[in-house]
Amino acid sequence: MRRLFRISTLLFTILIITSSHGLNAQDDLQSSSSNPSGDKPAILEQLIELINPDRMLEHIFKLADEYGVRTAGTVNERLAENYIAASLERYGYLAHSSDNIVLDNSLISHNIWAELQGKFPKIIIIGAHMDSKPPSPGANDNASGVAVVLELAKILHNATPRFTIRFVFFGAEEIIDSNVDHHHYGSRFMATDRHLIGRIHAMTSIDMVGFGSELWIDNMGEADDFWRGKIFNIGDSMGLPMHTGERRAWSDHEAFEYAGVPSAWVHWRYDPEYHSVGDTPDRIDPELLVSTTEMMLRAIIEAD
Ligand SMILES: [Zn+2]
Repeated sequence: MRRLFRISTLLFTILIITSSHGLNAQDDLQSSSSNPSGDKPAILEQLIELINPDRMLEHIFKLADEYGVRTAGTVNERLAENYIAASLERYGYLAHSSDNIVLDNSLISHNIWAELQGKFPKIIIIGAHMDSKPPSPGANDNASGVAVVLELAKILHNATPRFTIRFVFFGAEEIIDSNVDHHHYGSRFMATDRHLIGRIHAMTSIDMVGFGSELWIDNMGEADDFWRGKIFNIGDSMGLPMHTGERRAWSDHEAFEYAGVPSAWVHWRYDPEYHSVGDTPDRIDPELLVSTTEMMLRAIIEAD
């Protein structure tokens, strides 16, 4: 089954590349979002067909099982950085690493990111943190988010969405010592770039999307709310168990929201093994990965 699935996916990819070559997939994406008849746009549906749960599980096993605990600033976080950068390059992107981000314990972390050029220079950030909170191997928190963002990058590589998409893998999101404000280093670092902030249309943090029964779309109420509402409505139209309304600052949307960027934190609740040694890849539900990826694909393509 696994092999058949891969072969059919490959054939589908060839089909899309052949059919969209010269036809201009960009026009299809543009017209799709303003389609008054409500017909499902062909390109979007083709992109959704490409979502591959096996590929996402592979990333999660690599990060949480092979590398294991990815404490901010340690060699294991660095291994995750290198693996993610190599994956982005394999998908056809130029992977960037940030300057050194010096943590309060003097260890050094980085952000890894890549951009997909859209029709407009305004940016939508789709991010996930790479580190885990010791002693947790962090399969759900947050290899699951990394896997979804890598999958979005992989699937969208040949598309031209309306907005430029920056896929970001944040370093050092988790609290590193007894000071509860010693966290979100990577996102806070990126949000200090005033030139970048001025170019951002919206930001999403994908953080814990592999376990749970409720899909929460949150922000802190500090900036324009349209992006949270957009994602919520798309999830709702897909029939997902949507929840919203809690004002939580517990992920990488925090710094962007304080900088005035419309933001959303996408996460499934509730994981009793969160931050524990029990947050292992065998507990990850691939259906949650797939539905989260589809919801974000729709949000990216339908963004206006
Ligand atoms: Zn997290």
